[in-house]
Amino acid sequence: MDLEELYRQVIMDHYKNPRNKGLENTSGYIKLHLNNPSCGDDMTVCLLVDGDIIKDIKQDGKGCSICCSSASVMSLTLIGKKLDEALSIIKLFYNLVSGEVLTDIEEEKLGEAVVYKGVSKFPARIKCSTLSWKAIEQAIYEVKK
Ligand code: ZN
Repeated sequence: MDLEELYRQVIMDHYKNPRNKGLENTSGYIKLHLNNPSCGDDMTVCLLVDGDIIKDIKQDGKGCSICCSSASVMSLTLIGKKLDEALSIIKLFYNLVSGEVLTDIEEEKLGEAVVYKGVSKFPARIKCSTLSWKAIEQAIYEVKK
């Protein structure tokens, strides 16, 4: 099995079995909604922070497989991280899907999110892959204000 096929399987697994799916209305969660009209993607994320640590992320939305699976991967990648660490991982993800070459250490920080490397070959899908990451980034900035 080649790497691209493996990546495709991971993406389909997250699309079919999304992690941390659903909305959280409990107080303490910051909710942020974004959409991507060009594809019809619509994503809401809920962020719970304790001190400067991300305690929980919930995500819910509808859209294409890239958008929905990416929200699931994003939640797993960022839960447990410090806010500044999460912001730097989010930047690395934007670099990855824009086709920038990352170092091994940078790829390690991204963890499973490296499966979106191939998105850079499909410029129209970049926005799909980053929608949930943009939403959580804005929510983090809300917390830091
Ligand atoms: Zn999409």
